[in-house]
Amino acid sequence: MSNLSEQNKQAVVIGSGPAGLMAAQELARAGCDVTVIDAKPSVGRKFLMAGKSGLNLTRDEPERQFRGAYAEAAPWLRPMLEEFGVQQVQDWARDLDQDLFTGSTGRVFPVAMKASPLLRAWLGRLTDAGVQFRTRWRWTGWDDDALTFQTPEGVMQITPDATVLALGGASWARLGSDGAWAAILAERGVELAPFAPANAGVQVDWSPHMASVLGQPLKGVSFRAGQLVSRGEAVISARGLEGGGIYSVSRGVREGHALSVDLLPDLTEKQVTERLARPHGKASLSNHLRKVLKLGAARTALLQEFGRPFPQDPAALAARIKALPIHHAGLRPLDEAISTAGGVPRAALDDGLMLTALPGVFCAGEMLDWEAPTGGYLLTACLSTGRWAGQSATHYLQGKSA
Ligand SMILES: Cc1cc2nc3c(=O)[nH]c(=O)nc-3n(C[C@H](O)[C@H](O)[C@H](O)COP(=O)(O)OP(=O)(O)OC[C@H]3O[C@@H](n4cnc5c(N)ncnc54)[C@H](O)[C@@H]3O)c2cc1C
Repeated sequence: MSNLSEQNKQAVVIGSGPAGLMAAQELARAGCDVTVIDAKPSVGRKFLMAGKSGLNLTRDEPERQFRGAYAEAAPWLRPMLEEFGVQQVQDWARDLDQDLFTGSTGRVFPVAMKASPLLRAWLGRLTDAGVQFRTRWRWTGWDDDALTFQTPEGVMQITPDATVLALGGASWARLGSDGAWAAILAERGVELAPFAPANAGVQVDWSPHMASVLGQPLKGVSFRAGQLVSRGEAVISARGLEGGGIYSVSRGVREGHALSVDLLPDLTEKQVTERLARPHGKASLSNHLRKVLKLGAARTALLQEFGRPFPQDPAALAARIKALPIHHAGLRPLDEAISTAGGVPRAALDDGLMLTALPGVFCAGEMLDWEAPTGGYLLTACLSTGRWAGQSATHYLQGKSA
Protein backbone atom coordinates (compact mmCIF):
# COMPACT_ATOMS: atom_id res chain seq x y z
CA MET A 1 0.00 0.00 0.00
CA SER A 2 1.33 3.46 -0.83
CA ASN A 3 2.13 6.10 1.74
CA LEU A 4 -0.64 8.49 2.68
CA SER A 5 1.15 11.70 1.88
CA GLU A 6 4.55 13.28 2.23
CA GLN A 7 3.53 14.63 5.59
CA ASN A 8 2.42 11.47 7.40
CA LYS A 9 -0.88 11.48 9.17
CA GLN A 10 -0.85 10.74 12.87
CA ALA A 11 -2.99 7.89 14.18
CA VAL A 12 -3.47 6.86 17.77
CA VAL A 13 -4.64 3.39 18.74
CA ILE A 14 -5.79 3.09 22.34
CA GLY A 15 -5.65 -0.47 23.64
CA SER A 16 -2.83 -2.90 22.94
CA GLY A 17 -4.83 -6.13 22.74
CA PRO A 18 -5.12 -8.13 19.53
CA ALA A 19 -7.68 -5.71 18.03
CA GLY A 20 -5.56 -2.62 18.68
CA LEU A 21 -2.33 -4.19 17.46
CA MET A 22 -4.02 -5.34 14.26
CA ALA A 23 -5.41 -1.84 13.66
CA ALA A 24 -1.93 -0.41 14.27
CA GLN A 25 -0.45 -2.88 11.78
CA GLU A 26 -2.81 -1.70 9.04
CA LEU A 27 -2.29 1.98 9.75
CA ALA A 28 1.50 1.59 9.79
CA ARG A 29 1.36 -0.40 6.56
CA ALA A 30 -0.40 2.57 4.95
CA GLY A 31 2.36 4.90 6.06
CA CYS A 32 0.76 6.58 9.08
CA ASP A 33 2.69 7.59 12.16
CA VAL A 34 1.09 5.23 14.66
CA THR A 35 1.21 5.33 18.43
CA VAL A 36 -0.33 2.49 20.44
CA ILE A 37 -1.28 3.57 23.93
CA ASP A 38 -2.23 1.38 26.90
CA ALA A 39 -3.08 2.03 30.52
CA LYS A 40 -1.18 -0.99 31.78
CA PRO A 41 2.60 -1.15 32.32
CA SER A 42 2.96 -3.64 29.45
CA VAL A 43 1.03 -4.48 26.28
CA GLY A 44 -1.37 -7.30 25.43
CA ARG A 45 -1.97 -8.56 28.96
CA LYS A 46 -5.28 -10.27 28.27
CA PHE A 47 -3.89 -11.81 25.08
CA LEU A 48 -1.08 -13.29 27.16
CA MET A 49 -3.59 -14.57 29.70
CA ALA A 50 -5.60 -16.15 26.88
CA GLY A 51 -2.51 -18.22 26.12
CA LYS A 52 -2.17 -19.55 29.65
CA SER A 53 -4.51 -22.46 28.99
CA GLY A 54 -3.69 -22.79 25.28
CA LEU A 55 -4.10 -19.92 22.83
CA ASN A 56 -7.03 -20.94 20.68
CA LEU A 57 -6.57 -18.61 17.72
CA THR A 58 -9.41 -19.69 15.48
CA ARG A 59 -11.50 -22.68 14.51
CA ASP A 60 -11.03 -24.57 11.29
CA GLU A 61 -14.58 -25.19 10.14
CA PRO A 62 -16.71 -24.22 7.14
CA GLU A 63 -17.22 -20.46 6.87
CA ARG A 64 -20.96 -20.58 7.31
CA GLN A 65 -20.73 -22.66 10.46
CA PHE A 66 -17.96 -20.39 11.75
CA ARG A 67 -20.00 -17.24 11.19
CA GLY A 68 -23.01 -18.84 12.89
CA ALA A 69 -21.11 -18.65 16.19
CA TYR A 70 -21.62 -14.87 16.18
CA ALA A 71 -25.42 -15.30 16.18
CA GLU A 72 -27.22 -11.98 15.51
CA ALA A 73 -23.92 -10.17 14.89
CA ALA A 74 -22.97 -12.59 12.06
CA PRO A 75 -24.48 -10.49 9.23
CA TRP A 76 -22.55 -7.33 10.03
CA LEU A 77 -19.32 -9.13 10.93
CA ARG A 78 -19.51 -11.12 7.72
CA PRO A 79 -17.61 -8.74 5.39
CA MET A 80 -14.84 -8.42 7.97
CA LEU A 81 -14.59 -12.17 8.53
CA GLU A 82 -14.62 -12.80 4.80
CA GLU A 83 -11.54 -10.63 4.44
CA PHE A 84 -9.83 -11.88 7.56
CA GLY A 85 -11.25 -15.09 8.97
CA VAL A 86 -10.25 -18.66 9.74
CA GLN A 87 -7.67 -19.00 6.97
CA GLN A 88 -6.18 -15.51 7.18
CA VAL A 89 -5.71 -15.75 10.95
CA GLN A 90 -3.67 -18.91 10.42
CA ASP A 91 -1.66 -17.34 7.58
CA TRP A 92 -0.97 -14.30 9.72
CA ALA A 93 0.26 -16.37 12.67
CA ARG A 94 2.44 -18.52 10.38
CA ASP A 95 3.86 -15.36 8.84
CA LEU A 96 4.95 -14.46 12.38
CA ASP A 97 6.86 -17.78 12.44
CA GLN A 98 4.33 -19.60 14.59
CA ASP A 99 3.78 -23.27 13.81
CA LEU A 100 0.13 -24.17 14.29
CA PHE A 101 -1.84 -27.33 14.84
CA THR A 102 -5.52 -28.13 14.62
CA GLY A 103 -7.10 -30.18 17.40
CA SER A 104 -9.75 -32.84 16.87
CA THR A 105 -12.59 -30.34 17.27
CA GLY A 106 -11.08 -27.94 14.72
CA ARG A 107 -9.59 -25.58 17.27
CA VAL A 108 -6.37 -24.03 16.00
CA PHE A 109 -3.47 -23.38 18.40
CA PRO A 110 0.17 -22.36 18.08
CA VAL A 111 2.38 -25.41 18.72
CA ALA A 112 3.94 -23.34 21.53
CA MET A 113 0.39 -23.14 22.99
CA LYS A 114 1.10 -19.81 24.69
CA ALA A 115 0.74 -16.29 23.32
CA SER A 116 4.13 -14.87 24.27
CA PRO A 117 6.19 -16.02 21.23
CA LEU A 118 3.50 -14.76 18.87
CA LEU A 119 3.15 -11.44 20.69
CA ARG A 120 6.93 -10.98 20.78
CA ALA A 121 7.25 -11.58 17.05
CA TRP A 122 4.30 -9.29 16.32
CA LEU A 123 5.62 -6.44 18.47
CA GLY A 124 8.99 -6.77 16.73
CA ARG A 125 7.29 -6.50 13.35
CA LEU A 126 5.26 -3.47 14.47
CA THR A 127 8.30 -1.72 15.94
CA ASP A 128 10.18 -2.31 12.69
CA ALA A 129 7.24 -0.70 10.88
CA GLY A 130 7.69 2.40 13.03
CA VAL A 131 4.84 1.89 15.51
CA GLN A 132 5.51 3.64 18.81
CA PHE A 133 4.22 2.36 22.15
CA ARG A 134 3.22 4.27 25.27
CA THR A 135 2.33 2.29 28.36
CA ARG A 136 0.97 3.50 31.71
CA TRP A 137 -1.02 6.04 29.75
CA ARG A 138 -4.69 5.89 30.76
CA TRP A 139 -7.09 7.46 28.31
CA THR A 140 -9.57 9.64 30.20
CA GLY A 141 -11.57 11.20 27.35
CA TRP A 142 -11.35 14.32 25.25
CA ASP A 143 -10.66 17.95 25.92
CA ASP A 144 -12.27 19.52 22.86
CA ASP A 145 -10.62 17.53 20.05
CA ALA A 146 -7.61 16.41 22.06
CA LEU A 147 -7.37 12.93 23.55
CA THR A 148 -6.42 13.22 27.20
CA PHE A 149 -4.31 10.75 29.16
CA GLN A 150 -3.23 10.31 32.74
CA THR A 151 0.44 9.37 32.60
CA PRO A 152 3.27 9.05 35.12
CA GLU A 153 4.45 12.45 33.81
CA GLY A 154 1.06 14.07 34.40
CA VAL A 155 -1.81 14.78 32.04
CA MET A 156 -0.89 14.49 28.36
CA GLN A 157 -2.89 15.48 25.32
CA ILE A 158 -2.67 14.32 21.71
CA THR A 159 -4.75 15.48 18.76
CA PRO A 160 -4.28 12.78 16.12
CA ASP A 161 -5.79 12.75 12.64
CA ALA A 162 -7.58 9.48 13.44
CA THR A 163 -8.15 7.40 16.56
CA VAL A 164 -8.87 3.69 16.91
CA LEU A 165 -10.36 2.63 20.22
CA ALA A 166 -9.68 -1.04 21.00
CA LEU A 167 -10.32 -0.95 24.72
CA GLY A 168 -11.63 -4.48 25.27
CA GLY A 169 -14.69 -5.58 27.19
CA ALA A 170 -15.41 -5.29 30.89
CA SER A 171 -14.01 -8.46 32.43
CA TRP A 172 -10.68 -9.34 34.04
CA ALA A 173 -10.24 -5.65 34.88
CA ARG A 174 -6.82 -6.36 36.40
CA LEU A 175 -5.55 -7.06 32.88
CA GLY A 176 -6.74 -3.64 31.71
CA SER A 177 -10.17 -4.13 30.19
CA ASP A 178 -12.25 -2.47 32.90
CA GLY A 179 -15.02 -1.03 30.71
CA ALA A 180 -14.43 2.46 32.13
CA TRP A 181 -14.50 3.73 28.54
CA ALA A 182 -18.27 3.23 28.45
CA ALA A 183 -18.90 6.34 30.54
CA ILE A 184 -16.60 8.42 28.30
CA LEU A 185 -18.39 7.38 25.11
CA ALA A 186 -21.85 7.72 26.67
CA GLU A 187 -21.00 11.28 27.64
CA ARG A 188 -20.16 11.94 23.99
CA GLY A 189 -23.58 10.75 22.87
CA VAL A 190 -22.78 7.12 21.95
CA GLU A 191 -25.65 4.84 22.99
CA LEU A 192 -24.19 1.63 24.35
CA ALA A 193 -25.62 -1.83 24.91
CA PRO A 194 -25.27 -2.75 28.60
CA PHE A 195 -22.38 -5.07 29.48
CA ALA A 196 -23.21 -8.64 30.41
CA PRO A 197 -21.07 -11.70 31.13
CA ALA A 198 -20.43 -14.00 28.16
CA ASN A 199 -18.63 -17.32 28.47
CA ALA A 200 -19.17 -17.29 32.21
CA GLY A 201 -19.36 -20.00 34.85
CA VAL A 202 -22.46 -20.62 36.96
CA GLN A 203 -22.61 -20.06 40.67
CA VAL A 204 -23.78 -23.12 42.64
CA ASP A 205 -24.16 -23.30 46.39
CA TRP A 206 -23.18 -26.94 46.77
CA SER A 207 -24.30 -29.10 49.66
CA PRO A 208 -21.47 -30.38 51.91
CA HIS A 209 -21.52 -33.81 50.26
CA MET A 210 -19.98 -32.30 47.08
CA ALA A 211 -16.75 -31.56 49.01
CA SER A 212 -15.13 -34.81 47.85
CA VAL A 213 -15.44 -33.91 44.15
CA LEU A 214 -14.54 -30.20 44.26
CA GLY A 215 -11.84 -29.52 41.68
CA GLN A 216 -12.77 -32.57 39.62
CA PRO A 217 -13.58 -32.33 35.92
CA LEU A 218 -17.01 -33.28 34.73
CA LYS A 219 -16.38 -35.22 31.54
CA GLY A 220 -18.60 -37.07 29.10
CA VAL A 221 -21.63 -34.88 29.75
CA SER A 222 -23.71 -32.49 27.69
CA PHE A 223 -25.03 -29.20 29.03
CA ARG A 224 -28.17 -27.51 27.76
CA ALA A 225 -29.72 -24.07 28.31
CA GLY A 226 -32.52 -23.26 25.89
CA GLN A 227 -31.37 -24.00 22.34
CA LEU A 228 -27.71 -24.08 23.34
CA VAL A 229 -26.17 -27.51 23.82
CA SER A 230 -22.53 -28.21 24.62
CA ARG A 231 -20.50 -31.42 24.92
CA GLY A 232 -17.51 -29.65 26.48
CA GLU A 233 -16.09 -30.28 29.93
CA ALA A 234 -16.60 -28.31 33.12
CA VAL A 235 -14.86 -28.29 36.47
CA ILE A 236 -16.79 -28.62 39.72
CA SER A 237 -15.29 -25.74 41.69
CA ALA A 238 -16.08 -24.47 45.16
CA ARG A 239 -18.02 -21.64 43.50
CA GLY A 240 -19.97 -23.67 40.98
CA LEU A 241 -19.31 -24.96 37.48
CA GLU A 242 -16.62 -23.49 35.25
CA GLY A 243 -14.98 -24.36 31.95
CA GLY A 244 -15.65 -24.50 28.23
CA GLY A 245 -18.69 -26.80 28.42
CA ILE A 246 -20.59 -24.49 30.70
CA TYR A 247 -19.32 -21.27 29.06
CA SER A 248 -20.83 -22.37 25.75
CA VAL A 249 -24.34 -22.47 27.20
CA SER A 250 -23.95 -19.48 29.53
CA ARG A 251 -25.73 -17.18 27.11
CA GLY A 252 -28.83 -19.37 27.47
CA VAL A 253 -28.55 -19.15 31.27
CA ARG A 254 -28.16 -15.37 31.06
CA GLU A 255 -31.31 -15.19 28.97
CA GLY A 256 -33.26 -17.08 31.62
CA HIS A 257 -33.36 -20.63 30.26
CA ALA A 258 -33.18 -23.57 32.67
CA LEU A 259 -29.77 -25.26 32.82
CA SER A 260 -29.63 -29.03 32.66
CA VAL A 261 -27.01 -31.69 32.10
CA ASP A 262 -27.26 -34.97 30.27
CA LEU A 263 -25.06 -37.32 32.27
CA LEU A 264 -25.07 -39.99 29.54
CA PRO A 265 -25.20 -38.16 26.20
CA ASP A 266 -23.97 -41.20 24.26
CA LEU A 267 -26.92 -43.33 25.34
CA THR A 268 -30.55 -42.81 24.40
CA GLU A 269 -33.15 -42.44 27.12
CA LYS A 270 -34.44 -45.88 26.12
CA GLN A 271 -31.00 -47.44 26.55
CA VAL A 272 -30.61 -45.83 29.97
CA THR A 273 -34.09 -47.09 30.94
CA GLU A 274 -33.16 -50.62 29.88
CA ARG A 275 -30.01 -50.52 31.98
CA LEU A 276 -31.88 -49.22 34.99
CA ALA A 277 -34.55 -51.88 34.60
CA ARG A 278 -32.03 -54.72 34.98
CA PRO A 279 -32.77 -56.71 38.14
CA HIS A 280 -30.63 -55.58 41.06
CA GLY A 281 -31.62 -58.11 43.73
CA LYS A 282 -30.71 -56.90 47.18
CA ALA A 283 -28.21 -54.29 45.97
CA SER A 284 -29.05 -50.74 47.05
CA LEU A 285 -30.22 -48.33 44.35
CA SER A 286 -26.92 -46.42 44.63
CA ASN A 287 -24.92 -49.60 44.03
CA HIS A 288 -27.19 -50.56 41.18
CA LEU A 289 -26.73 -47.16 39.55
CA ARG A 290 -22.97 -47.39 39.97
CA LYS A 291 -22.90 -50.86 38.33
CA VAL A 292 -25.21 -50.25 35.40
CA LEU A 293 -24.36 -46.63 34.59
CA LYS A 294 -20.63 -46.42 35.47
CA LEU A 295 -20.88 -42.69 36.00
CA GLY A 296 -17.73 -42.24 38.07
CA ALA A 297 -17.37 -39.99 41.12
CA ALA A 298 -18.08 -36.54 39.63
CA ARG A 299 -21.20 -37.42 37.65
CA THR A 300 -22.53 -39.60 40.48
CA ALA A 301 -22.09 -36.73 42.95
CA LEU A 302 -24.00 -34.42 40.62
CA LEU A 303 -26.80 -36.96 40.26
CA GLN A 304 -27.03 -37.27 44.03
CA GLU A 305 -26.98 -33.48 44.39
CA PHE A 306 -29.74 -32.66 41.95
CA GLY A 307 -31.50 -35.97 41.19
CA ARG A 308 -32.97 -36.83 44.59
CA PRO A 309 -35.45 -38.12 45.50
CA PHE A 310 -34.84 -40.71 42.77
CA PRO A 311 -37.99 -41.88 41.00
CA GLN A 312 -38.57 -45.62 41.38
CA ASP A 313 -39.72 -45.99 37.80
CA PRO A 314 -36.68 -46.70 35.53
CA ALA A 315 -38.09 -44.59 32.68
CA ALA A 316 -38.62 -41.59 34.97
CA LEU A 317 -35.15 -41.99 36.47
CA ALA A 318 -33.63 -42.29 32.98
CA ALA A 319 -35.38 -39.06 31.98
CA ARG A 320 -33.88 -37.33 35.01
CA ILE A 321 -30.37 -38.61 34.24
CA LYS A 322 -30.71 -37.42 30.65
CA ALA A 323 -31.89 -33.94 31.68
CA LEU A 324 -30.71 -33.35 35.22
CA PRO A 325 -31.69 -29.84 36.31
CA ILE A 326 -28.80 -27.81 37.69
CA HIS A 327 -30.05 -25.50 40.42
CA HIS A 328 -27.77 -22.49 40.41
CA ALA A 329 -27.60 -18.93 41.66
CA GLY A 330 -26.96 -17.31 38.27
CA LEU A 331 -23.82 -16.58 36.32
CA ARG A 332 -20.56 -15.71 38.01
CA PRO A 333 -19.87 -11.94 38.13
CA LEU A 334 -18.99 -10.01 34.96
CA ASP A 335 -15.36 -9.51 35.96
CA GLU A 336 -14.79 -13.29 35.99
CA ALA A 337 -16.30 -13.87 32.55
CA ILE A 338 -13.99 -14.85 29.71
CA SER A 339 -15.62 -12.20 27.53
CA THR A 340 -18.26 -9.49 27.56
CA ALA A 341 -21.50 -9.05 25.69
CA GLY A 342 -22.72 -5.50 25.10
CA GLY A 343 -20.67 -2.42 24.31
CA VAL A 344 -20.66 -0.29 21.18
CA PRO A 345 -23.60 -1.40 19.03
CA ARG A 346 -23.45 -1.69 15.24
CA ALA A 347 -26.07 1.07 15.08
CA ALA A 348 -23.58 3.56 16.52
CA LEU A 349 -21.05 2.83 13.75
CA ASP A 350 -20.76 3.29 10.03
CA ASP A 351 -19.71 0.45 7.71
CA GLY A 352 -16.07 1.21 8.50
CA LEU A 353 -16.57 0.88 12.27
CA MET A 354 -16.33 4.66 12.74
CA LEU A 355 -18.53 6.15 15.44
CA THR A 356 -21.14 8.24 13.69
CA ALA A 357 -21.26 10.56 16.71
CA LEU A 358 -17.48 11.04 16.62
CA PRO A 359 -16.03 11.30 13.10
CA GLY A 360 -12.45 10.08 12.94
CA VAL A 361 -12.90 7.71 15.90
CA PHE A 362 -13.06 4.00 15.07
CA CYS A 363 -13.81 1.04 17.35
CA ALA A 364 -12.66 -2.58 17.22
CA GLY A 365 -12.49 -5.81 19.17
CA GLU A 366 -14.39 -6.97 22.18
CA MET A 367 -15.66 -3.47 23.00
CA LEU A 368 -18.07 -3.87 20.07
CA ASP A 369 -21.45 -5.41 20.81
CA TRP A 370 -21.04 -8.97 19.57
CA GLU A 371 -20.50 -12.19 21.44
CA ALA A 372 -19.46 -15.70 20.59
CA PRO A 373 -18.54 -18.89 22.42
CA THR A 374 -14.93 -19.70 23.24
CA GLY A 375 -13.17 -21.79 20.63
CA GLY A 376 -11.15 -19.20 18.72
CA TYR A 377 -14.16 -17.11 17.69
CA LEU A 378 -13.26 -14.30 20.09
CA LEU A 379 -9.71 -13.72 18.92
CA THR A 380 -10.65 -14.12 15.26
CA ALA A 381 -13.30 -11.39 15.48
CA CYS A 382 -10.97 -9.13 17.49
CA LEU A 383 -8.24 -9.46 14.84
CA SER A 384 -10.72 -9.12 12.01
CA THR A 385 -12.49 -6.02 13.35
CA GLY A 386 -9.13 -4.51 14.33
CA ARG A 387 -7.90 -4.90 10.78
CA TRP A 388 -11.14 -3.48 9.38
CA ALA A 389 -11.05 -0.46 11.69
CA GLY A 390 -7.37 0.16 10.85
CA GLN A 391 -8.08 0.02 7.13
CA SER A 392 -11.15 2.24 7.44
CA ALA A 393 -9.14 4.76 9.42
CA THR A 394 -6.56 4.68 6.63
CA HIS A 395 -9.23 5.38 4.02
CA TYR A 396 -10.58 8.18 6.18
CA LEU A 397 -7.13 9.74 6.36
CA GLN A 398 -6.61 9.32 2.63
CA GLY A 399 -9.87 11.21 2.12
CA LYS A 400 -8.63 13.93 4.44
CA SER A 401 -5.32 14.34 2.62
CA ALA A 402 -6.87 14.20 -0.87
C1 LIG B 1 -8.60 -16.48 30.72
C2 LIG B 1 -8.94 -16.10 29.31
C3 LIG B 1 -8.68 -17.01 28.29
C4 LIG B 1 -9.04 -16.67 26.96
N1 LIG B 1 -8.74 -17.56 25.97
C5 LIG B 1 -9.09 -17.27 24.70
C6 LIG B 1 -8.79 -18.18 23.63
O1 LIG B 1 -8.10 -19.20 23.83
N2 LIG B 1 -9.24 -17.88 22.38
C7 LIG B 1 -9.97 -16.74 22.13
O2 LIG B 1 -10.39 -16.55 20.98
N3 LIG B 1 -10.19 -15.82 23.10
C8 LIG B 1 -9.78 -16.06 24.37
N4 LIG B 1 -10.02 -15.15 25.36
C9 LIG B 1 -10.65 -13.86 25.00
C10 LIG B 1 -9.64 -12.87 24.37
O3 LIG B 1 -8.46 -12.82 25.14
C11 LIG B 1 -10.28 -11.48 24.28
O4 LIG B 1 -11.51 -11.57 23.60
C12 LIG B 1 -9.35 -10.50 23.54
O5 LIG B 1 -8.13 -10.33 24.24
C13 LIG B 1 -10.02 -9.15 23.36
O6 LIG B 1 -9.16 -8.37 22.56
P1 LIG B 1 -9.28 -6.80 22.47
O7 LIG B 1 -8.08 -6.35 21.70
O8 LIG B 1 -10.62 -6.42 21.99
O9 LIG B 1 -9.19 -6.29 23.98
P2 LIG B 1 -8.14 -6.61 25.15
O10 LIG B 1 -7.24 -7.73 24.78
O11 LIG B 1 -8.95 -6.71 26.38
O12 LIG B 1 -7.25 -5.29 25.18
C14 LIG B 1 -7.80 -4.04 25.57
C15 LIG B 1 -6.66 -3.16 26.02
O13 LIG B 1 -7.16 -1.84 26.24
C16 LIG B 1 -6.50 -1.30 27.36
N5 LIG B 1 -7.34 -0.24 27.94
C17 LIG B 1 -8.62 -0.34 28.40
N6 LIG B 1 -9.05 0.86 28.84
C18 LIG B 1 -8.03 1.74 28.64
C19 LIG B 1 -7.88 3.14 28.86
N7 LIG B 1 -8.85 3.89 29.40
N8 LIG B 1 -6.70 3.73 28.53
C20 LIG B 1 -5.70 3.01 27.95
N9 LIG B 1 -5.79 1.67 27.73
C21 LIG B 1 -6.95 1.05 28.05
C22 LIG B 1 -6.31 -2.45 28.29
O14 LIG B 1 -5.26 -2.24 29.22
C23 LIG B 1 -6.02 -3.60 27.33
O15 LIG B 1 -4.64 -3.82 27.15
C24 LIG B 1 -9.67 -15.42 26.67
C25 LIG B 1 -9.90 -14.52 27.72
C26 LIG B 1 -9.54 -14.84 29.01
C27 LIG B 1 -9.81 -13.85 30.11
